[in-house]
Amino acid sequence: MPLFSHLRSLRQEGSSPSIDFTQPLVHSHEQPLVHLAVAARTDVGRIRKGNEDSLHASANAYRGLFIVADGMGGHAAGEVASEMAVEMVSHELSDLNDLGGGDAHERVSRALRDANRAVYERTRTERDKLGMGSTVSALLLSETRYLIGHVGDSRIYLVRNGEMRQLTKDHSLVQEQVDAGLLTPEQARRHPQSNVITRCIGMADEIEPDVFDGEAQVGDAFLLASDGLTGMVDDRRIQQLLLSRAKPERIVDALIQEANVNGGNDNITAVVVRVLEEEATNTDREVTPIPPARTHG
Ligand code: CA
Repeated sequence: MPLFSHLRSLRQEGSSPSIDFTQPLVHSHEQPLVHLAVAARTDVGRIRKGNEDSLHASANAYRGLFIVADGMGGHAAGEVASEMAVEMVSHELSDLNDLGGGDAHERVSRALRDANRAVYERTRTERDKLGMGSTVSALLLSETRYLIGHVGDSRIYLVRNGEMRQLTKDHSLVQEQVDAGLLTPEQARRHPQSNVITRCIGMADEIEPDVFDGEAQVGDAFLLASDGLTGMVDDRRIQQLLLSRAKPERIVDALIQEANVNGGNDNITAVVVRVLEEEATNTDREVTPIPPARTHG
């Protein structure tokens, strides 16, 4: 059974409700879609006035495409940068279906580099866009393979066999200090300069995105998140929620709610994708309830 199809970029403001990508939107004569269950949502948080995060979630018969972008820059330029990045990357990758193909890495790299050049050009020609930029974490996912393009400090995690791994590596000042053994990951998360990034879309005329791929398996759960989530909810709790086997919508809602309860200092974006068995139906049974948050103090 086809599970979802949704071919447009999404950007939500304020406290908009969760977007549900699990309705079957294709007709029976079309090819069955890749079997993924997805929920995606962005929230302004509790401090910021605007939302500079953008996201994209779509799928065709062969693979899903998911993007989180976290913009920066004054006078709403961050919104422009993240929106441009998401639209350009999703457009350029819309017909990339063979994730193991010989040119797949180059296609992903080029999509991010082209987006970079377009955003950078506007920072040079439009006075109010000076200094704008955006992270991009893009995931292409079939039932057997994932392919990631990444620049900045948004993150993609993979939960498999009860364990969570961060697939992307932050391009940030504090990550460099973690690599040098000067900070632990937890110290980095709470560091006052944790939001200083060393690479992003729009920063320079050329950027070098990270592009890598790997095997995907039935049961895998992927999370794409902006730092408004990962800075507010620690990895242990994120893992606990992703392991709950609840529907992606419920996990996304719980993640965003907890980021807000913990302060909501920044815009919060979460995309949860689960690789389903082929015979799964779109009722995606809820096996275990969401575990309660730890109490503090
Ligand atoms: Ca952010």
